[in-house]
This record gives sequence, C-alpha cells and structure tokens, in this order.
Amino acid sequence: MSIARRGVMLVIASPSGAGKTSISRAVMATDPDIELSVSVTTRPKRPSEVDGVHYHFISVKEFERMRADGELLEWAQVHDNLYATPRARVEQTLAGGRDILFDIDYQGTLQLYEKCRPDMVTVFILPPSIKELRARLERRAEDGPDTIRRRLKNARIEMEHWQEYDHVIINEDLERSVEKVRSILSAARSTGRRLTQMQSFVRDLQNQIDSL
Ligand code: 5GP
Repeated sequence: MSIARRGVMLVIASPSGAGKTSISRAVMATDPDIELSVSVTTRPKRPSEVDGVHYHFISVKEFERMRADGELLEWAQVHDNLYATPRARVEQTLAGGRDILFDIDYQGTLQLYEKCRPDMVTVFILPPSIKELRARLERRAEDGPDTIRRRLKNARIEMEHWQEYDHVIINEDLERSVEKVRSILSAARSTGRRLTQMQSFVRDLQNQIDSL
C-alpha cells in the first residue's frame, strides 16, 4: 500500500567533471517519480544542449526581471554566468508528491537550506583524483583549454564545501555511485515528516484497536 507523501528535493552537487550529470541522468532514467529542476541561465548554449531541457537559456535582462519579481528560489553567479532555480515548478512538484532533482552549486545549496531545509536531502560528489577530473573535463571537449583551467580552479573552491552536504560520495565507479544515490533517495522518501497522510493512517489503526 502507498501513503501520500510530499516530494523530496534531492540536491546533487560537485565540481564540474566529477560526474554529477551522469549520476543524475542514471537515477532519473530508472525512476518515474523524480524529475529534474530545469534552471535558468544566462550562459550561452553548448552545441549539445537543448533549450528547455538542459536549461532555459535567457538574457541577463530577463534574469534580472525574474529575480526582482521574486520568481527565483535561489540564484548564483558561476564562471561569469548567472544561474537560478525558478520557484513555481518546485512548489508544484513537491506538493504533488513527486521528487525534484537539483544540479546546482554550493552557493545555491546554501540558499535552498535557508528556505527549504526540511524538504531537502543533499549529496556531494567528489572525483577520485584530479588526474581523473582533468581527463573527464578534457573528454567533454566542448570547452577550450582556458575554460578547463577555470573549471579546475573553481573545482578547488567548490570542494571546500563538502561538509555542508548530508552525504558525500567519491565517484570512482558510476554504477556504484548511482546505487548509493538511489538508496539515499529511497530513505528520504519514507521520512515521517514527508508522509502527509500518516496521521490519519495511524489514527485509523488506533480506532481499529479501540473497537476490538
Ligand atoms: P554548467 O555551466 O557547466 O552547466 O554549470 C556550471 C555550474 O553552475 C555547475 O556547478 C552547476 O551546478 C551550477 N548551476 C547550474 N544551475 C544552477 C542553478 O540553478 N543554481 C545554482 N546556484 N547553480 C547552478
């Protein structure tokens, strides 16, 4: 039997290249109850990206309008570009009992903690080594050497924040990392405070005892 529940906000963060995108995709591919929070960004679209799927690509002017109108749950500047999470979709998803996955950096995570801590479970992904991180950034091949250097510098800063996350995974093996995230999500789903109908379910059990 299933008891109605509020959705989980699952945050997966890591330095770019550590594997969070592959992990997120794999978790979502096998789980119909979780969807991706599509951020807005002012960064130019990469050739492999689709507007509305990977991000909503918007102008700085539109970004500023959304921020001024309170439409953003959190926002951050990363590598000279602006990124943010639109609020409305998150609220609808959670209330509908579905989970939502966030691929955001530590600045965004800290802002979400202030507003949504009880709804959140956070996971930080680390690369097994810098050699591996570099190789992954180079394999991506969409970014030039300057961008890769900047991403590595940024990775150093991002890593500093590992202690702010509920769970930390060293991504040595993709399948094992995905399994760990699935277990974390599964545990979060049965947290008592998310089970919105549990009060009436327990009362019903108690009534049955009373009427024995
Ligand atoms: P990329 O440009 O490689 O897609 O993302 C660069 C960084 O921006 C990543 O660390 C990613 O987690 C972060 N990011 C993407 N979307 C958001 C968002 O909505 N909010 C915040 N705070 N960071 C984001």
